[in-house]
Amino acid sequence: MFDYLIVGAGFAGSVLAERLASQSGKKVLIVDKRPHIGGNAYDHYDDSGILVHRYGPHIFHTNSREVFEYLSFFTEWRPYEHRVLASVDGQLVPIPINLDTVNRLYGLNLTAFQLEEFFASVAEQKDYIRTSEDVVVSKVGRELYEKFFRGYTRKQWGLDPSELDRSVTARVPTRTNRDDRYFTDTYQAMPLHGYTRMFEKMLSHPNIKIMLNTDYREIQEAIAYREMIYTGPIDEFFDYCYGKLPYRSLEFKHETLNKPVHQPAPVINYPNEHPYTRVTEFKYLTGQEHLKTSIVYEYPQAEGDPYYPIPRPENAELYKQYKALADATPSVHFVGRLATYKYYNMDQVVAQALAIYSQLVQRVLIKI
Ligand SMILES: Cc1cc2nc3c(=O)[nH]c(=O)nc-3n(C[C@H](O)[C@H](O)[C@H](O)COP(=O)(O)OP(=O)(O)OC[C@H]3O[C@@H](n4cnc5c(N)ncnc54)[C@H](O)[C@@H]3O)c2cc1C
Repeated sequence: MFDYLIVGAGFAGSVLAERLASQSGKKVLIVDKRPHIGGNAYDHYDDSGILVHRYGPHIFHTNSREVFEYLSFFTEWRPYEHRVLASVDGQLVPIPINLDTVNRLYGLNLTAFQLEEFFASVAEQKDYIRTSEDVVVSKVGRELYEKFFRGYTRKQWGLDPSELDRSVTARVPTRTNRDDRYFTDTYQAMPLHGYTRMFEKMLSHPNIKIMLNTDYREIQEAIAYREMIYTGPIDEFFDYCYGKLPYRSLEFKHETLNKPVHQPAPVINYPNEHPYTRVTEFKYLTGQEHLKTSIVYEYPQAEGDPYYPIPRPENAELYKQYKALADATPSVHFVGRLATYKYYNMDQVVAQALAIYSQLVQRVLIKI
């Protein structure tokens, strides 16, 4: 008899498996329908021996000391600060927009103070910031919005920024200094030997059994367990009884090139040309040295694996209906990006899983 059947071996499922097994002595079966652990953070060596992220670039960054220290039990780190260039008007310029972006784009030589004045002169006043378009035009005006955000967002989400919740572009800051780091979190680093090695260590406890290539519904009836932790899509769990929650998907096109370096930055965004949104060159992320280099193109899609919950008010309403069903199913705990229909980063999912673990432990203590 297993204490827990955990559906999904990504961050949510793996953190809970690890805590329950190592800290509470629970017996855990973790099942994933994919042929590997790690969920969307899975990385592997491709045919040329280059470490790549199968489901697109995963950059670790967090302000949570607790999350960083927790993951540090399972990996050493390689310091890494992410940088992105955007291809705009035939130039490659830093994104998030900073002083150098504006100076290079317009051939100017503004100071930080003058850039603030420039932004103030082009920003559109909004009484209420509701959409992603409002967020950007109220900060940097319509022209920069068109050049950097509108096309990218339309490709990425299949929706105009004016139709998307403000939370989507609120994630992309604008700076008046020359800081060209993509993130400013306290902890920014990549697992030294990759994500999959880190997951292997997390799941190596003798109380944890792993079953891959298996949809939980195939084994649910045949295996005895007390409670379930579910990290797949919440609408699928309830057989889409209220209809499908919309997700945005991606197609990844991986390539290996016969040269050591392909592009001048880890990621190049293409807001306006090409059907793909961005190209990532993995060696920047991993620090690996190799005579060849591997890259991935990302093509946003409406259909396919569910990657991004789409933040719109009507979707949040639909999710609430599923959440009510989840709350009425106490023997199943819904955790992670797809099960809580939230646009969470890896560190947020780890924090959520650690919090759920604490609740499970509390519950046991209260029962005693
Ligand atoms: C393209 C892309 C880039 C990203 N980049 C970053 C980044 O740079 N930094 C960052 O912090 N975050 C990033 N993220 C977010 C990150 O991937 C998620 O926060 C994290 O993977 C969520 O973990 P999870 O365990 O909730 O879900 P997942 O990793 O999706 O794991 C869920 C698992 O459940 C399995 N599953 C689902 N249904 C079933 C079933 N019926 N039976 C068995 N198994 C099932 C799935 O196969 C999957 O492996 C990115 C996401 C994407 C899509």
